[in-house]
Amino acid sequence: MATNRTFTMIKPDAVQENHIGGILNMMEEGGFRIVELQKLTLTAERAGQFYAVHAERPFYNDLVKYMSSGPIVAAVLEKDNAVADFRTLIGATNPAQAAEGTIRKKYAKSIEANAVHGSDSDENAQIEADFFFGAK
Ligand code: GDP
Ligand code: MG
Repeated sequence: MATNRTFTMIKPDAVQENHIGGILNMMEEGGFRIVELQKLTLTAERAGQFYAVHAERPFYNDLVKYMSSGPIVAAVLEKDNAVADFRTLIGATNPAQAAEGTIRKKYAKSIEANAVHGSDSDENAQIEADFFFGAK
């Protein structure tokens, strides 16, 4: 996968509240092209694998439970400088600190139920995209 791609998920709270369209629209309006897209429900085991890097954090068990609590939407997005620009578009992890105009400012409910995931590096974008869509 080229470095002009990132990986995202629309998390269970945002799917449950009918924000798939609104969030995908913000991504497209932000200049991202959707190159892969799938709605699915993670098992707790798969959610735990995805977030294994956080296994020692105190919120890990809650996070795994939350991320497997209902459908999500996984997507691969393309844009120049995709990883960094997408982190800017989604905003801070804690919506109380998210800037105006960001996806989390508009849609996140809490530091946990924060509407969207965005990869934090080109390397992780590749790993995360492959986790859902297989090596291409
Ligand atoms: P992100 O890269 O902005 O998504 O944030 P992190 O990689 O630090 O954390 C991964 C995910 O774990 C976040 O998006 C939240 O859903 C959740 N999370 C992060 N920090 C906390 C916390 O302090 N408490 C809880 N309950 N969840 C958290
Ligand atoms: Mg992260």
